Amino acid sequence: MTRIITIISGKGGVGKTTTVTNVGVALTELGKDVLILDANVTTPNLSMHLGIPFYPVTLHDVLTRNVHVNDAIYVHSSGLKIIPASLSVDRLKDLSMEKLQSTLLNLLGRAEIIILDAAAGLGREAQAAIEVADEIIVVTNPELPAVADALKTIKVAEENGTKILGVVVNRHSGKRHMMRLEEINQILQVPILAVIPEDVKVQESIANKMPVVKYSPRSKSAREFKRLAAYIAGAGFEPLKERGFVERLFAWLS
Ligand code: ADP
Ligand code: MG
Repeated sequence: MTRIITIISGKGGVGKTTTVTNVGVALTELGKDVLILDANVTTPNLSMHLGIPFYPVTLHDVLTRNVHVNDAIYVHSSGLKIIPASLSVDRLKDLSMEKLQSTLLNLLGRAEIIILDAAAGLGREAQAAIEVADEIIVVTNPELPAVADALKTIKVAEENGTKILGVVVNRHSGKRHMMRLEEINQILQVPILAVIPEDVKVQESIANKMPVVKYSPRSKSAREFKRLAAYIAGAGFEPLKERGFVERLFAWLS
């Protein structure tokens, strides 16, 4: 059976694509057959994070022409499969998300886990990515505007009947002006699955077009992404004999 998981956010720029590439590669390293798909078709950048921005056939061809989705699947050096979106502005004309559902139906069985990199907000692109998902994970930063927008995304997913796995709090620094995890939890009322620290290694890894789990596997952010992947896989993984940040925090709180 294929699981379709959408990674989404209310506010843009909070770390969706970073989460998709890192969780995708980490799940592949755990032996899972994973495919990631760029469902952020108007401003795609999934392939840029992986250093392969130009593809002959993309999701746009599948959504707008008579091209089979199998022809838009590429394999990254990590073994992760990817369906990119076109970076060309010209290709945005006539683009409709109507075929996303049938495209995903055609993909069932092509991977164990399909992860969608959704558009931010609640426009057609984001809605379509929620509608086709079995489960969603909402990414936020520990700041009120991002958390307030995450709440809207959660409400829309709830109305749609989509299972919400939980929230990833990305760029956590623990600085006093940032929101505390308990506050975020109180507002969103869904589990916090992972707390990814603010980490310059993430920025370096993007500049080097490589997920941080590959670029700097022992960094704090990489370890937390791996822990999140293990949670998703249900593998019960504790990286490098260290407990993850969230577990340590909850242990400390209790
Ligand atoms: P989105 O897909 O939600 O728009 P991205 O994953 O592209 O967001 O991340 C936006 C930018 O935020 C990245 O280019 C990077 O500079 C920065 N970033 C993301 N996560 C972290 C992190 N944990 N630590 C430091 N910077 C980060
Ligand atoms: Mg993105």
